[in-house]
Amino acid sequence: VHTAYSSALAQKAGRAVPLVVGNDGNYGGVAEAQRVRGQSNSTVLMLAPGSGLGVAYIDSHGLPLEGDTLAGMEGGHMPAPLQLLDIKPYPCGCGKDWGCVEVYTTISGLPYLLAEKLKKYPEHDLAKSTATPKEKALSLRGLAQKGDPLAVEIFDFQAKAIGIHVANLAMALDPTFVVIGGGLMDPENTTDEFRERYLRIVRESADPYLWTAQRGRITIVPATLGDLSQAIGAALVALYQSRS
Ligand SMILES: [Zn+2]
Repeated sequence: VHTAYSSALAQKAGRAVPLVVGNDGNYGGVAEAQRVRGQSNSTVLMLAPGSGLGVAYIDSHGLPLEGDTLAGMEGGHMPAPLQLLDIKPYPCGCGKDWGCVEVYTTISGLPYLLAEKLKKYPEHDLAKSTATPKEKALSLRGLAQKGDPLAVEIFDFQAKAIGIHVANLAMALDPTFVVIGGGLMDPENTTDEFRERYLRIVRESADPYLWTAQRGRITIVPATLGDLSQAIGAALVALYQSRS
């Protein structure tokens, strides 16, 4: 990909253009990290729950941890501590059966979480709905913005799972900033009240499991670049690499 794209790009531009190829989620993290850390060397962890869970770690040089087979930081497919979440190990699209964090924090697992929650709310409209499981799952975000108790409880649960995972990853990575991205943090999709509640629960769920020094230092903030973050991050990595 790099060779073919690079030569096509050079031909079109009339000169060689620095090009990098990498993971979209990691490059989104590079861009968001540049925003939060500014000129500092602080490291940044990003979690972006959407259809799946994108996780990126950006080091003191501003570059992502990619691993030796480009499979590093697949943090969405680490096992969730199911005893803390009081939930079963649902299967994940990746094939693992150990209860991937992705299932408890993203759209991918919402049908399971909804089915579980409907036992408590048998009279809820979604219990009688003829929509597909996917359609029902996708309706939850809108319902939560209107304060529907079932939907709010489901996103509270997801926020708790994200928070515990932030602490889990902090044991290995010890970042200064944690950026939460994805559709739930997009002001066009969710209310200020929803985002504040979600981020508060993330914080409260992480804190008991962080070391004391981390608890005072780690700053958890929403992402700000939206869909453009991945393209901006790729451009930044190309820039950083051509400088060095
Ligand atoms: Zn998985």
